[in-house]
Amino acid sequence: MTQMIHILQTSPLLFVVMSAILGLMVGSFLNVVIHRLPKMLEIGWQQQCAELRGEQPAPSTPYNLMVPRSACPQCNHAISAWENIPVISYLLLRGKCKGCGTAISPRYPIIEAISGMLCAYTAWSFGFGLAAAGAFLLIWALLALTVIDFDTQLLPDDITLPLLWAGLLLNLFSVFTDLYSAVLGAVIGYLALWSVYWLFKLVTGKEGMGYGDFKLLAALGAWMGWQLLPLIILMSSLVGAIVGIFLIVALRHGRNIPIPFGPYLACSGLIALFWGKTLTEGYLQLLAVP
Ligand SMILES: [Zn+2]
Repeated sequence: MTQMIHILQTSPLLFVVMSAILGLMVGSFLNVVIHRLPKMLEIGWQQQCAELRGEQPAPSTPYNLMVPRSACPQCNHAISAWENIPVISYLLLRGKCKGCGTAISPRYPIIEAISGMLCAYTAWSFGFGLAAAGAFLLIWALLALTVIDFDTQLLPDDITLPLLWAGLLLNLFSVFTDLYSAVLGAVIGYLALWSVYWLFKLVTGKEGMGYGDFKLLAALGAWMGWQLLPLIILMSSLVGAIVGIFLIVALRHGRNIPIPFGPYLACSGLIALFWGKTLTEGYLQLLAVP
């Protein structure tokens, strides 16, 4: 074990390769989380509603991240281990189910590849250590949240809240910032979007974002400290506004159809993780703040 750690510490290239493989494998699991977590939440809510109405909840077959086994939604063909190798299986199967030939969404290998590449980049820029391990967790959580929010306009508490605690815990050892900045980051992150939400609601009577967005920004504040919050908010609003205008103008996306804000927060969070300090110094110089 200590020998293994020594090898990873002294051979950055090996660490990058191992991290890429780990990223690909976890990416494959993230596909399961992205697909099943919203459904698991919905089953739970429906059971609670049934209980409230005083009905006997219908007996249900177990449905969680482990059970049932992955199968083709079209023909129920069970997916074997060799059909489940990240990216490679998709290429070998030429993007089609082995059972019925239905096209498999390219989204699965894309998410696996993104996870693998981000983990490789993390390994390369942080080196072997606690910071890289933490960054892996953050990347996986943000990746899952981005796609789930895109699909369902939900940012599940089951991901945002543990992410917040994990950030505080890591910064207990000052991995990304000191504990003082992390606690303030969580509080200010939450309150910043909470106040925007209420201001927007008072002025327009509409809900511009959801509570999940506040919790996600609180988590990012806990990971990176309050100092990076202005950068994260600035980048996500800017990109959100550009994409929003593009959707409304070019694709005639209805003005009142909600556009999820979570993906922009998550992307900005990732950019802040890698280049936050450099970018903050850059824009403070631009504003000529001493
Ligand atoms: Zn099939």
